[in-house]
Parts: sequence; C-alpha cells; structure tokens
Amino acid sequence: MSEGKVFLVGAGPGDPGLITVRARELIETCDVLVYDYLANAELQRWIKPGCECVYVGKRPGRHSISQDKIEDILVKHAKKGRLVVRLKGGDPFIFGRGGEEACRLLADGIDFEIVPGVTAALGAAACAGIPLTHREHSSSVCFITGHEDIERGLMHVDFEKFAQVGGTLCIYMGMGHISDITDKLIAGGLSPETPVAVVEWATLPRQRSLCATLATVAKAKEKAGLKPPAVVIVGEVARYTEKLNWFEARPLTGKRVAVTRARGQVGELRRKLEALGAEVLTLPLIDIVEAESHETIDVYDGITSYDWVVFTSPNGARFFFKKFFEKFSDLRCIGGVKIACIGASTAREVKRHHLAVDLIPEVSVAENLADALLATESLDSLNILVVTGNRNRDVLVRKLEEEGHAIVDMLPVYRNEPTDLSEEPEAQSFRDKGADAITFTSASTVENFVAQSGQLQLAKGAQRPKAISMGPVTSAAMKEKGVPIDAEAREQTLDALVEAVVKKLAE
Ligand code: SAH
Repeated sequence: MSEGKVFLVGAGPGDPGLITVRARELIETCDVLVYDYLANAELQRWIKPGCECVYVGKRPGRHSISQDKIEDILVKHAKKGRLVVRLKGGDPFIFGRGGEEACRLLADGIDFEIVPGVTAALGAAACAGIPLTHREHSSSVCFITGHEDIERGLMHVDFEKFAQVGGTLCIYMGMGHISDITDKLIAGGLSPETPVAVVEWATLPRQRSLCATLATVAKAKEKAGLKPPAVVIVGEVARYTEKLNWFEARPLTGKRVAVTRARGQVGELRRKLEALGAEVLTLPLIDIVEAESHETIDVYDGITSYDWVVFTSPNGARFFFKKFFEKFSDLRCIGGVKIACIGASTAREVKRHHLAVDLIPEVSVAENLADALLATESLDSLNILVVTGNRNRDVLVRKLEEEGHAIVDMLPVYRNEPTDLSEEPEAQSFRDKGADAITFTSASTVENFVAQSGQLQLAKGAQRPKAISMGPVTSAAMKEKGVPIDAEAREQTLDALVEAVVKKLAE
C-alpha cells in the first residue's frame, strides 16, 4: 500500500450546508481535490492553502474527461503519497460511479474511504416538501435512472414493472426522456392522474419545481422551461409539494440580491438573505488588508497612557487586537483604558476578548460617537486613541480635539484596496443578468461601488437592481454620488436591511 489515500466523498445535493461534517473535515485537510460540476464551487473555499484542485466535469465545447482518465488522476496523486478527495454531487454510490472508482483503487492497492452524502432525491424531496414515504400513500422508495437511450434499445430500466411497485419513484437524469418514461408508467398500469413533481436545482437558491400528473408533466415541464439537473418524483406523495413547499414559499425565493461589501465580510448578510430564499451575488468591492506602519508599534508600547480607546469599525477592532496579541501575550497589558465603540458589531469584536465596552452611541455614526464621548466627562487633556482604517474619521477627531480639547492619536490598522472583479463569477453573473436588488451597508461601499462602476457595467437587457441603503449615512453618500435610493432600512442593522429588501421586492 502507498501512503496516499483516496476519499470518495458525497458533496450533497447542492447547498453547501447539507454536506456532512466528515466531508468538510476532509476538504479542509486534503492535498488534492478532484471535483465535477454538481459539486458546489463554494466548497472549494474550505481547502487549505496549497491544495491542488482538479476539475474533471463537463466544460462547454469540450469532451468531458473519461471515467478511466478520472481514475488515473486519483491513482496518480495517491501514489505520490497525497490525500485525495474525490468529491461527487449527492452520494458517491448513487449514480455516481463510486463503485467503479473504489474497485479501481482496490485493484491498484490504494487505500480508500467512502463518505456518504445526501443524494439529490432526498434533497429535492426535503426542499420541495415531498415526504418520500407516508403511512397512507407510500411504503417504499426507488431511485431510478432515466438516462438509458430508449431509441437505441439500450433501455435497461423496465418502467412498466416499476409501475407495479406501488411506492414512490425518484427518477434521476430523466428530463430528456420524460414523455417516454411517463408513457411506460401509464402503460404499466399507473393512473394518468398520478401526481408527479419535477424539482430543478434542488436545495439551491435557484431551485424551481412544478407539480403535474403523469399525463401532463412532459408538457408542463416544457412550458416552465425546467432543465437538468432535476429529479422527477412520481407517486401520491408528490402532491404534498403543493402545500409543504416551504423552500420556494420564502419571501426572497427566485430573487437575486447583490451585496456590496469588503471581501470576507459578506458572510452574515449573505446567510440572512439566503435563509429567506435569495440567490446572493457577492460583489467584493474592496479587500481589507492589515496596515503596516512603524508608528503602530510605539502606540502599542504606550497603550496604557491612553484614557480612551475608540473603535470606529469591526475591522479596526479585529486588526487592533490581532497586532496587540502579536506583541503582548497578556490581556492586562491594555491597562485601565476605557473603550468606546461606534456600534454593536464593533463592540462584538471587542467583547470577544472579554473586555467590557464602556460606551456605544445610540445611533452608529461618527458625530454621535463624538457627542456621546463629550457627554461622559471633561475630555480636556485626556489622551484618546482612535483606531481606524485608511479612511479618516475627520468629524470624530475634529470634535474631540476642538470641542473636548482632548489629545487625539489616530491609529490606522487596516487599508482598503480595490478588488479586481473581472474574473469573479458572481460579478460576471451580475453584469450579464443584473439583479432584483443591491444592498449598500456603508458610505464606503457606495464610494467603492461608484469607483468600480466600470467593472460592474450591466449588459443590455440586464435587470436594473433596486438600491437598498442601510441607513442615513449610507443614503447621504448615495445621494452625493448620484446612486438612486429605492429603500432605506428603518435602522442601521443587517436585519433591518434585509427587512427593507423583502419589503421593497414584495411591492
Ligand atoms: N450522485 C448524485 C447523482 C448524480 S447523477 C446524487 O447522489 O445525487 C446526476 C443527476 O442527479 C441529475 O441528472 C439529476 O437528476 C440529479 N441531481 C443532482 N443534483 C441535483 C439537484 N441539485 N437538483 C435536482 N437534481 C439533481
């Protein structure tokens, strides 16, 4: 046996949240990731630096890589002593050729492990609201391929026999032959009135589905324009999708929402929008990078001489403590300073380190932060450290100096750098098709959006998104830059922003 190993891993039906914990662990630690088009590209974000990704799926205009070649790739890397994850959509042993790959590995003396995944039919059933078994209607489930070539007589699946089984039939790869399949099921004795559901891109924000009958489904699918990948579910239980389809009943189902934030910061907003069914397009307009500055070190050395440390953004707090703990190993080195934060999310970053926050203004803007500080006590000759990015918080510093006579030092701990969006697939999708809405969460996202507008030019016919602002400061920046405002959140929080998106898109 070589020291390498191959893991045949199920990636689940599409939604990255539906992968197993074991699969995630393996993706995070493998040396080589071999994947195809049904495995969500998002999963690649989990790989470790230096992991080699090998795409073996279909590419437009090119032949797909043969099964033998794929197996050669697995063997080659494993023989070099690498840990190889072969990621497959759904489950590796359900229409995934996992059996062939495992046998080849065995034949070549390569150690292997198989990790199951949620197969497409289970994902489709859950997210279209179809109980595959039901005490009143169905006591068995079949997974069937509809792929065999009927015209050339290669049809191995005897659908007429399956008509006699009496349980729920889940047909994979059946879209191309749907009318032949339904004809055979009817010929085999199923009533033409038997309910049939078709679920396209199950579990993903773009999931679409329909419910028809054996007699009508081929036409209905054509009319709705449903295409592969889709699962066809036949049986009485399919009817339940009409009332239990929670997934497509969510308020943002079928809506595309573009999110403008710094790279690495869209996570929370993205999750909130996706939980309501939206397809989220991330437009990372800026990269946030740590500022390297010599002065920084002196400030940390003298940190205990400050009366207040003021954080004006979550990034500021994050980078401040990163540097702080690179320098000191003891939290007490921060001394007895008081801490002010501009808002709740900034305070959250500070509290992570078990430090209490002494002051947060009621409204999260620089003026209010300054006023709240001015209201606490006399700031006269107090030393205040304002932790910032490279965008100056002029108002804050000016007020503290001029009105409070404080001695203010600024500590820039990070820089914003424009990103290159030309190769980002979600930015490309935005340029091609537009979106239903676009969110702005700060004045800087507006400025960056305008500065990057050349990279975000909508194609002809693309949908112009409704612009949703997170609050008055963001709206002011939008007005100044000539970005029309379609709605504003009722308060400056992500939840209120999401609420404003839902409300606007329901109009
Ligand atoms: N091993 C996979 C199946 C691969 S065969 C699994 O266990 O799910 C490919 C077929 O799977 C597609 O033609 C389609 O019928 C089905 N499929 C895969 N992903 C799907 C999805 N997200 N929604 C609907 N059907 C899907």
